[in-house]
Amino acid sequence: MKAIIIGAGIGGMSAAAALDQQGIDCEVFEAVKEMKPVGAAISIWSNGVKCMNHLGMGQIMDDLGGPMHNMAYLEGFSAAQMTRFSLKPLVEEVGERPCPVSRADLQSRMIDWWGRDKVRFGKRLECVTQDENGVTATFTDGSMAHGDFMIAADGAHSIAREYVLGQTVERRYAGYVNWNGLVEIDEAIAPADQWTMFVADGKRVSVMPIADNRFYFFFDVPLPKGLPEDRSTVVNDLKGYFEGWAEPVQRLIDAINPDTTNRIEIHDVEPFSPLVKGRVALLGDAGHSTTPDIGQGGCAALEDAVVLGRCFAASCDIEGALQCYNNSRLERVKDLVLKARKRCEVTHGFDPAETQAWYDELRAETGVGIMSGLSKTILGGPLG
Ligand code: FAD
Repeated sequence: MKAIIIGAGIGGMSAAAALDQQGIDCEVFEAVKEMKPVGAAISIWSNGVKCMNHLGMGQIMDDLGGPMHNMAYLEGFSAAQMTRFSLKPLVEEVGERPCPVSRADLQSRMIDWWGRDKVRFGKRLECVTQDENGVTATFTDGSMAHGDFMIAADGAHSIAREYVLGQTVERRYAGYVNWNGLVEIDEAIAPADQWTMFVADGKRVSVMPIADNRFYFFFDVPLPKGLPEDRSTVVNDLKGYFEGWAEPVQRLIDAINPDTTNRIEIHDVEPFSPLVKGRVALLGDAGHSTTPDIGQGGCAALEDAVVLGRCFAASCDIEGALQCYNNSRLERVKDLVLKARKRCEVTHGFDPAETQAWYDELRAETGVGIMSGLSKTILGGPLG
């Protein structure tokens, strides 16, 4: 049995690992000649780490995961502590730690783990056809590939999604812009072992420790789509948006490197169904594109891969196994997308009264409420 996998992101590489575990040959096709991941880092929550372990890539998490042992919210203008707590009870409850990691390193290590020379770079899927004998992918360079089935992990702008659904699905602007990057850890900004967030006015500034003494930082600002900002103005833009904010935030803005800071208008896609058409299945962002507000997009791609592998372990019938994947994932991914959307709205001040109520809740938070939410999300994954 041979699978064609489209995309060498987290989704594509984890799908390859999961199918390989079931003895299925995989050929991975990636559009770009050189991977340049969008976003500086990513937090792989415990459900994602469990999937990486299950897929045989746990060492990557051990090597790249930052020492995120505590979590804190501070008021943005004063840096007054709203809540601070240890994540140890969460880790004990769910049985695995979260791992914030450099995205480029994660991507690179996953490709190396699979075998870089086995990935066909520079192959951009243009169209898909299938019949009772299998699936054919046609690439923009005119070449073709044939397999018994296809796993399309071609990201949020997926071409295969259109094929599976028979229609184009528009991405939805989530209402805020996110700037992100990496800086050397500076404890005058925040403790080195803590996920620290500054919040006020529906804006958010976050630093999270990753390996090699670096903070993954991001700034969220609710803004209209399409503003003419770019790298050359990033420091001034942030200074403007965060005027009057506390000293650690100003220090972070001063520390960032505009050349390596990403500016992303955040989108998601309304949950849809199905994820599968015959012998073609969508996986990762192709199947469920979420805002990053609960840090679960990449984790969900890893979960997809684990479930896909399980479905093929239970059945050698290709269409049956892919239907099993579809049925097992639909509810979970819808739930994650909608949960993230709700979190996005509260965090970013869409209803100022609701956001103010959240700030008030944070001041009374001991950690129990937040960890209970995190634990529900984590334990809702396929590996518990
Ligand atoms: P992608 O990473 O987009 O990979 C798709 C691959 O397919 C790419 O390599 C692309 O080049 C290739 N491709 C595209 N089109 C074609 C084609 N036609 N033919 C061949 N190849 C093609 N998730 C978390 O779990 N935790 C987080 O903390 C987190 N933070 C985030 C922060 C931000 C700012 C953003 C934007 C996202 C965040 N996410 C997070 C979400 C996460 O990045 C995605 O869910 C994840 O990268 C999806 O992986 P993927 O492989 O499905 O898609």
